[in-house]
Amino acid sequence: MKDGDTQVTCRYCTDAGDIGEKVADLEVSRLWLTKDQTYRGRCILSLKEHKTEFFQLEGEELQAFARDMAKASKALYKAFSPGKINYAAFGDTYPHLHFHLVPKYPDGKSWGSAFELPLSNDKLASKEELAALVKEIQKHL
Ligand SMILES: [Zn+2]
Repeated sequence: MKDGDTQVTCRYCTDAGDIGEKVADLEVSRLWLTKDQTYRGRCILSLKEHKTEFFQLEGEELQAFARDMAKASKALYKAFSPGKINYAAFGDTYPHLHFHLVPKYPDGKSWGSAFELPLSNDKLASKEELAALVKEIQKHL
């Protein structure tokens, strides 16, 4: 984020830590494991630079973001063997470009429908659980 930018409180620019645990710095993005683990392995992939729309990515940055997305989702697939990974980008209230990478399981919550976006306070993983999951993902990156 540049000086003078009005997005001074952007959580994805400030690494505020309220997103979850950082898993890795990739080529042009960062991978976070969310504190809410209702869906085991749920992550967020955020662009390092502050941009708000997917169409603002061009050339090498666009290709690198695609590689990061593929690498991160492959690692989640290998680590947790989900039935499917869901990919979603919203950003109305946090417009910094980021994608939700949400492993879904045939016998698990929301299978066959959209995953639930709001973080559930009663499903927050402990620091120890998050650390173990981060290690599992990092093994496959
Ligand atoms: Zn930002």
